[in-house]
Amino acid sequence: MDDIVVVGGGIIGASTAYFLSKEGRKVKVIEKDPTYKKASFPLSLGGFRRQFFQKENIMLGKFSREFLLNVPSDLKTKKNPSPTVSMVPNGYLLLFGPEHAQEQYLALENHKACEAGTKNIKGSELKQVFPYISEEGIETATYSDTKIEGWIDPYLFHNALKNKAVELGAEFIKGDVKSLKEIKANAIVSAAGCWTNELLNDIPVFPQKHTVFRFKCPKHIPEMPLTGDLTTGVYWRPEGKEYLAGSPKPVWDAEDLEPEWNDFEELVWPGLAKRISVFEEIKMTGAWAGYYDCNKLDNNAVVGKHPGYENVYMASGFTGRGLMQAPGIGRALTELITTGSYQTIDLGCFSVERVLKQEERVEPYVL
Ligand SMILES: Cc1cc2nc3c(=O)[nH]c(=O)nc-3n(C[C@H](O)[C@H](O)[C@H](O)COP(=O)(O)OP(=O)(O)OC[C@H]3O[C@@H](n4cnc5c(N)ncnc54)[C@H](O)[C@@H]3O)c2cc1C
Repeated sequence: MDDIVVVGGGIIGASTAYFLSKEGRKVKVIEKDPTYKKASFPLSLGGFRRQFFQKENIMLGKFSREFLLNVPSDLKTKKNPSPTVSMVPNGYLLLFGPEHAQEQYLALENHKACEAGTKNIKGSELKQVFPYISEEGIETATYSDTKIEGWIDPYLFHNALKNKAVELGAEFIKGDVKSLKEIKANAIVSAAGCWTNELLNDIPVFPQKHTVFRFKCPKHIPEMPLTGDLTTGVYWRPEGKEYLAGSPKPVWDAEDLEPEWNDFEELVWPGLAKRISVFEEIKMTGAWAGYYDCNKLDNNAVVGKHPGYENVYMASGFTGRGLMQAPGIGRALTELITTGSYQTIDLGCFSVERVLKQEERVEPYVL
């Protein structure tokens, strides 16, 4: 009988393995594809932010930044003495039209209560802070300019977490778990990402395809934050000397990870050019697509013990924010498994019971 088995060695599985191993637990991680070709984390944009509506998501965002800053000291190993996540702390900028403004004013109360450190301006003031952005149709905007948000390299982060977990005694093995009943362990953690429903068929988390385009522009604005335009759903950020931009049109039931190429001309380019005039002159240089682990009920995480089993815990449904929430989720599951309750951020609101009872707790700020 194993002590703890984690199914899925992606970013949530690796973080959970790290935190549990740090507590002295013996962890075995079973991963069906150690190349991680279709896993969500390497295909993500690497963004970390605390700009959310719900307090728990804001708090998880704050913890992720603290954790990421400590990666060089906390995750160093004999094999990798200088781990890095290549952090670019350019901040986030979220732009809201009149249809989302009232909701954002309520979100700002939660930002304040959680001491998120974000700033809010009227659309008419946008050009004073971001002179290259058009304020047309923008009622209000929220941003950070103190290096508290930005993006990282997801692959490096995963590598650092996994290496440290292994140094602390965790074992990563290749295997495709067909049923949780196959596993004999004191505790089982399902960290299967967008494939969660294949293991736990009462959890409404499914793969949702998202396409990301890479493009170049004659003008480079290296200080640009990761910007989400809620009036079009298009989001973008610099990537080295080029830029990345996400399509606002997700695809359910996708048969493959071929990018939705038409979205560039039809949605992404018009959305970019409307907001930043130099983006009229861009040229697409590539694209990829990946799956969000999307919670169909309410776009929010599902975390905790599954009431239908004696020893099964799970974490999934992050709907575009699992990379940044991985440190907080790994810590939270470890607290739950080792002490029976949450000790730092109370994630009771994300419980499995809530999903089984169909109690929606919608997180509106999905990019
Ligand atoms: C285009 C795109 C952009 C994104 N941008 C961001 C962003 O900016 N910031 C952010 O925080 N998040 C972002 N995300 C979301 C983020 O990548 C995911 O929420 C996160 O990776 C989920 O982590 P996970 O470990 O649950 O899933 P994964 O990373 O998919 O890992 C799950 C692993 O479980 C394995 N597995 C599944 N089933 C089994 C089984 N039965 N047996 C064995 N192994 C199994 C899989 O092979 C996989 O490796 C983005 C995602 C995409 C696609």
